Amino acid sequence: MAEFDDTVRKMEKNYSPQRVEEKWQKKWLSEEHYPVYRFKNDGRPTFVIDTPPPFTSGELHMGHAYWNILNDVVARYKRMNGFDVLLPQGWDCQGLPTELKVQYKWKVPRDDRKLFREKCTEWTGNMIKSMKTCMIKLGYRPDWEQLEYRTMDREYWRAVQTSLLMMNREGLVYRNEFPVHWCPKCGTALAQAEVGYLQKAGRLYYVKFAADGAFAEVATTRPELLPACVALAVSPGDGRYGNLVNREVEVPIFGQRVKVLADEAVDPAFGTGIVMICTYGDEQDIKWQQKYGLPIVKAIDEYGRLTNSGRFSGMKAAAAREEIVKELEVRGRLSRAEPMTHNILAHTERADCMAPIEFIVKDQWFIRSKEFREMVLKESAGMKWIPPFMGQRLVDWVNSIEWDWLISRQRIFGTPIPFWYCGGCGQIIPPREEDLPVDTALDRPPAEKCSRCGGSDLRGTTDVCDCWVDSSITALIVTGFFTDRKRFERTYPVDYRQQGHDIIRTWFYYSTLRCTLLTGRAPFRGVFLNGHILGPDGSRMSKSKGNVIMPEQGVSQFGADAIRQGLLSLTLGSDFPFKWEPAKYGKGFLQKVWSSVRFAEGFLNDPSYTLEGAQLEEVDRWILSGLRETVAEVTGAMEGFQFHIAVDLLQRFYWHDFCDQYIEAVKPRLYEPRSPESQRAAKATLYHTIWAFSRLLAPLCPHITEEIFDNIFRPREGGISIHAARYPRVEETPSLDGTDGAILVKAISDLRTRKVEAKMALSAEVPRAKVQADEKTLEVCRKGEWLIRSVLHIGEVEFAAGSYRTELVGG
Ligand SMILES: [Zn+2]
Ligand SMILES: [Zn+2]
Repeated sequence: MAEFDDTVRKMEKNYSPQRVEEKWQKKWLSEEHYPVYRFKNDGRPTFVIDTPPPFTSGELHMGHAYWNILNDVVARYKRMNGFDVLLPQGWDCQGLPTELKVQYKWKVPRDDRKLFREKCTEWTGNMIKSMKTCMIKLGYRPDWEQLEYRTMDREYWRAVQTSLLMMNREGLVYRNEFPVHWCPKCGTALAQAEVGYLQKAGRLYYVKFAADGAFAEVATTRPELLPACVALAVSPGDGRYGNLVNREVEVPIFGQRVKVLADEAVDPAFGTGIVMICTYGDEQDIKWQQKYGLPIVKAIDEYGRLTNSGRFSGMKAAAAREEIVKELEVRGRLSRAEPMTHNILAHTERADCMAPIEFIVKDQWFIRSKEFREMVLKESAGMKWIPPFMGQRLVDWVNSIEWDWLISRQRIFGTPIPFWYCGGCGQIIPPREEDLPVDTALDRPPAEKCSRCGGSDLRGTTDVCDCWVDSSITALIVTGFFTDRKRFERTYPVDYRQQGHDIIRTWFYYSTLRCTLLTGRAPFRGVFLNGHILGPDGSRMSKSKGNVIMPEQGVSQFGADAIRQGLLSLTLGSDFPFKWEPAKYGKGFLQKVWSSVRFAEGFLNDPSYTLEGAQLEEVDRWILSGLRETVAEVTGAMEGFQFHIAVDLLQRFYWHDFCDQYIEAVKPRLYEPRSPESQRAAKATLYHTIWAFSRLLAPLCPHITEEIFDNIFRPREGGISIHAARYPRVEETPSLDGTDGAILVKAISDLRTRKVEAKMALSAEVPRAKVQADEKTLEVCRKGEWLIRSVLHIGEVEFAAGSYRTELVGG
């Protein structure tokens, strides 16, 4: 009497991610489903994630995919737990790479500022479109409708400029001439966070300076800076040079006479122990210039060419080095040159540039930040860091900050710095707030004359903001600081900031600095940090290395849910070489899930079975106690952002316990039950377990679970989507003792293994089997004998006391 009803079956045999995923992605974007994803601000507890706005390169790489998935999982999980979730999506639009594309690919000249900017905006619009398409294919569903922002929009400019006006009122913005990190290749000033050290092979030149008939020998890697040499320095305790200190020496070729200083910062072990101080060769030179009030000689210009250097003027630094070395040789002032590897400061961050940087004195705009180091450290220490050890990276960074934040960039596609200044006295002239956004390069100032000196030489700045000025206020944008005070009061500080660990010193630091200064409170309660997805070879993905893997490849091959499982199985915070295996495994797991639900579908057509009052048998108690434990453990993992643990727990419970053991063990009770009660209990357990499991899996694999919900659970549970259902609570599943069930399942599983070892089909009839065990085990197996025999097609089971073993007899 098989009660299996194939006619009710709606699910196809093989799970097709392509068909199912596309269908639901479309539906989730429909008006019907939008209420599930809309931030409602309706009084329920809110949960706000400050998500990273990706740079609009047009390509959604594996790193982006990872962030999107992390945020989507958290958002779906929190929604199912009753939170009013605010999941925004921003776009970091403005930057040098786009300017270069528009300039070179579209051949738009830069001199028409307005046209150039329009073209950059158009270009970026196209890039966003293609990235968005790819995000949707991953099942990512932020509140696009309400909370999508683009840093190039006038509304965003207004927010950025308002924030700068506020900071200027507090005296936190200033303009100054300052040696800045300058990239001659990009023609722009850089922030400290945009430069890093590169190891390069070079030469160390030993140059002889004339010192009263004798020579002082200086070892330098940059002889082209000789024209800018303003002093020499030795270590105060260096006995070799005690008689040189405070004397004057003559710089070879260029002839200027400079003093020899004694300073603690000199390393007597490097080179000859004598160093030259140039304005400027490195950051130490800047410190020395300020400490000793040394003259400033501009020897290198914005294009990386020598100036004020006699016949060497106009040469690029590298070429000038060669020429100056030759000249030193001719004049007998080069004693030797030896090869060495040294660290050079280069444009390494957020650009493929990698050009060596120079220090150049420029008019620049700054935000005071040095003096707020303690504030940033204190506010950050009050946040929850996941993983916790990442907090130290911020501490190290903040303690290494030596300069204020340089916010100006000599570019076009960026938020204009909203200040004019007086050419006479330097007074900053801000716009009226109602005139924002402004572009001071084009717009007229709000006054005719300077309020301080009465001068009428008012100049607009043509500089635009560093991109971090834009993105450091995302926490204020999404919470409505500039637009919706009511929302702001309810949602700030945001619950979590998600970001990569590589931008702790930029995005995290600048956000904490700016938002705290603007609101008086830190912007985040917590921060969760993801690592990098590296190329399969273990190095950072980059086009030039040819090791870039795009998420779209995997979506078409394995499906988005499988990719999500693969990426979520990584430990948060660590870097990983990319592998397809976890996604492949994920696909196999989902097929298993699908097949099991499809099997159950035929028995779940009558949705009246409940666990309440059901006559549960040992195996039911066993799987239900396992489910209860899994719900508790998975919930704990999700709360702690330990997604890899959640994925592992779900795969193990469902695949190994539920599919491999439980379903096999209940088949006889479903097909040929001994009593209607036994069958009903099996059906109730199946329904309960699959329903709870589907909801546990829903945040991680939203497509397949939505399809299962639609096919199986919607009629009984109601609601539009599994993503609007309640996340399983531990109390939903009765607390049962599964010990006896575990014993029985183990015996069945072991006997099945014996069959496999004997190369028998699992359905093959076996006349006799033997279970040898202790009293307790025997008692349980005797009680479950019918099940053992039915599941394994065994004629008779022999029970014997002794140490545990199972065997097939005869057969
Ligand atoms: Zn550069
Ligand atoms: Zn003035």
